[in-house]
Order: sequence, then structure tokens, then C-alpha cells
Amino acid sequence: MDRFQLYIDGQFRDGAATFQSLDPATGTPWAEMPEAREAEVNAAVTAAHRAFRSGPWPKLTATARGKLLMKLADLVQAAAPRLAALETRDTGKIIRETSAQIAYVADYFRYYAGLADKIEGAHLPIDKPDMEVWTRREPVGVVAAIVPWNSQLFLSAVKIGPALAAGCTVVLKASEDGPAPMLEFARLVHEAGFPAGVFNVITGFGPTCGAVLTRHPLVDHIAFTGGPETARAVVRGSAENLASTSLELGGKSPFIVFDDADLDSAANAQVSGIFAATGQSCVAGSRLLVQSSVKDAFLAKLKAKAEAIRIAAPDEMTTEVGPLCTLRQRDRIERLVAESLTAGARLVTGGQTPEGAGFYYPPTILDCSSVPDAASVTQELFGPVLSVVAFETEDEALEIANATQYGLASGVFTASLTRAHRMIRGLRAGVVWVNTYRAVSPIAPFGGSGLSGHGREGGLAAALDYTTVKTVWLRT
Ligand code: NAD
Repeated sequence: MDRFQLYIDGQFRDGAATFQSLDPATGTPWAEMPEAREAEVNAAVTAAHRAFRSGPWPKLTATARGKLLMKLADLVQAAAPRLAALETRDTGKIIRETSAQIAYVADYFRYYAGLADKIEGAHLPIDKPDMEVWTRREPVGVVAAIVPWNSQLFLSAVKIGPALAAGCTVVLKASEDGPAPMLEFARLVHEAGFPAGVFNVITGFGPTCGAVLTRHPLVDHIAFTGGPETARAVVRGSAENLASTSLELGGKSPFIVFDDADLDSAANAQVSGIFAATGQSCVAGSRLLVQSSVKDAFLAKLKAKAEAIRIAAPDEMTTEVGPLCTLRQRDRIERLVAESLTAGARLVTGGQTPEGAGFYYPPTILDCSSVPDAASVTQELFGPVLSVVAFETEDEALEIANATQYGLASGVFTASLTRAHRMIRGLRAGVVWVNTYRAVSPIAPFGGSGLSGHGREGGLAAALDYTTVKTVWLRT
């Protein structure tokens, strides 16, 4: 069986214990993972704190930090096939998606490499002739970055990139489900030549690892991606050290199709919007709101496309939907689909767990137009399940779209520019995609509000989140 190690203070080392990682395609163990508990968390945070206060890191110029990040980007690109294969093996995410996403990971590191020496303070024109006043943007300190299983390399890069560019040090806690790509990524950070302690990777379980990290007295900022319930625990932990937080949580994103939309283009976007990553995506367009007059035509297109999807082993390049990451996840999806069907939802396609090994679940469409408060409409399933609700008017579409405590992503498909503008204004979401879905770029901020969290990843705003402002008054 493969074995992995933690990366703490520039060294690869074992944890307090080990746990087995399952291959989601077969449900069988394939690797021994190191488990970090209190002692390892403490060692990692202490190393990050020391690296932040002394040693070469605080003395490096921003340009030098940028060069290290650029080197890391090149190493990530060169190691892409290995990283993609590991992520596929350990999480079940299909190889086509992991390979494509790693190109983005390198792009994010390049973007933040370029931004490192552009994080500026400002000169303030104070009303005193003998005083010079300005602000400095300084790194916030030790960052605890906590990520879930899906897209770990990507969700880590959007935290590590801006944090290191700003001059912070990082303890990354990889998910206990599928940590292999992050433990391997540590080798690239080591090879790039970052000073010991600047970047550390641990993994372990919520109560014995994550919770210890979030309340650690030497942690200054927590960048968390995961579910809202865990976020509450993270915020409670931060009540101990009063660390600042940025939270990227879940979503129940509306995908809105008007009767004047290009239905073929909308259907393609909807299929990848919900079934990519086997639905395990925070921005999954999991609520289809479709105008009644085109509902039947649009559902017919979706059903045909969903049934043509190739479900197979995640390491095959032609696979379009692979297994879910964990059995726990599949059990939950099965339960919520069954509840919705009992409540009166109509099964359009899917809904049957296949026989055999692995945590597979088919692309599923539920018409919930007669039960708009069914579990699958209101709760995040984090799986390949689309819930459909019909609407008559634009106002009604907006009302249904906003009838959720989440506020992450949204999609609008229409040929009317003026309607698109009205929807953009009215939607409560951190991202609005018009006639497209799921587009991302390192340049564009991403994040949500309400139950979807706060703070932004991507863009300059994310780098500023890892800084604090020092105001200087100088009598001349
Ligand atoms: P989760 O909340 O269960 O776990 C996330 C991480 O938190 C894991 O590393 C876990 O070990 C850790 N954790 C668990 N308990 C903790 C505690 N008490 N203190 C500190 N850390 C703790 O999330 P998950 O189920 O692995 O992932 C799915 C969730 O993540 C979904 O809700 C999804 O929408 C969300 N997500 C959001 C985004 C985004 O960018 N908004 C992206 C991907 C996933």
C-alpha cells in the first residue's frame, strides 16, 4: 500500500497514527495516510510562527517571494500528470477534470507571483503641514488554510497563492478524505526552495486536528472552505484566538432558463453545471428554474444528454461521470432523493444506485415543480442531482432564486440584454454567469454571502485579505 507523510517545518514526517484512504472507484483501501493530532498541529503552527517572525522569510523582498511562487507554478505544471492521477485515485474525481484543473492551479500561482510586489499602501494627504502619513500593507501572520475533499489542489492554491504573495506563512490542513494530492504537493513546495516552516501540510480529522488548528493561539487568520455546519465550529474556534476568517461554504445555486434562451447552449451548460465533478462542486447549478412554456422541451434535451453520459472508472480519459468521494456522501444523496420522491417529486431520469463496487451514483433529474420545498430543492446535496422548478414570470424566477439562505453562484440564460441586467441586479449571489456557467479566472474574485460564507478568493481582493494595515505618522 502507498504511504504518505506530513510536511512540517521543511521536513517529511509521520503523524501520531495512520488511517487508510479508500479508492472511491472500488471502495477498497489503497494508501496509508499520516494522521496529525495536537502535537503535530502544534509543531506545524509553531514552525509557521517562527518562520513568520524570524529566519529568511520576513527579510525576503516581495519580488523574491513572487519568484518562488513562479517556480512553484512551473513545478506544479511539470508534475501535473502525477498530481492529477493522485487526486483521481484518492477522491474519484475524473482524470479529465483533475488534469484540466491543475492547469488552473499553475495559473493561480502565476497570477499571485505577479501580484506579490504590487500590494501597496497609500500616502494620506493629512491636514498638517509638518506631518507625513502613509499606510503599509503588512502580512497578517500565520494562516490556517482548511480545505474539503473536492478540488483540494485548486481550493488550496486559491488560499496559498495570495497568502504567500502577501508574506504570510501557512499551515494547510488537507481533508481526511483524499489528502494524497496535497501531501504530494508539499514535495513541490520543498523543491521550489521555500524556507522551512513557511508552508506546512497536515491532515487529520475535524475534532482532533482541524479544531485544534482553528483555536491555536499562534494562528492569525483562518481561510476555510467546507460546509456551513463545520464553518460554525471554525468560527467558534476562532473565538479563542480571535483570528480573522474567510469562509467559502456551500451553495444551492439557481440556474435560470427563460423562454427566449438558446436552449441547446443552456442545456450543455446545465449538464456540465450540475454533473461535472459528479455534482461535488460548491457552484453546482443544482436548482434549475425554467420558464413553464419551455419546460418540457428543455427537460427532454437534459434527459437525453444525462442518459448519454459515460459513467465509468475515473482514471479513464473518456469517463464523464465517476464515483462520489465517499460512501457517506452517496448514502446522504440516496436519502435526500428518496425523501424528495416521497414528497411528490417526479423522477425524470437516474435515481438508481448501480450494483457493484465503488461509490457510483447516476446523473439524476427530479421535477420538483409541484413540491418546490422538497429536500432536494432546499438542501445542498453535493452530488449529481438536479432539481427542477418551473416559473411563469421574471419576478417569480427572482423570488424562487433568492428563496435560500445560500448566496454563492447563479446562472441566467436569456436573449434579452435588459432582462439579464435586471436579473444581475436582483440576484443574491456572489457570482452571476449570463449565458455561460462555471467560468473562473485568477483575476476574478469569487465567493458568497449568507450561508455561503464571506470573503473572496481570486483577484487582488483575496491578497488584501491576507494583509493588515499599519498607519505611519512621521513628524518632519
Ligand atoms: P466539511 O465542512 O465536512 O470539511 C471541510 C474541512 O474541515 C475538512 O478538512 C475537515 O476535516 C475540516 N473540519 C471538520 N471539522 C472541523 C472542525 N471542527 N474544525 C476545523 N476543521 C474541521 O466539508 P466537506 O463535507 O469535506 O466538503 C463539502 C462542503 O464544502 C460543501 O458544503 C461544499 O459546498 C463546500 N465547498 C465550498 C466551496 C466554495 O468555494 N464555496 C468549494 C468546495 C466545497
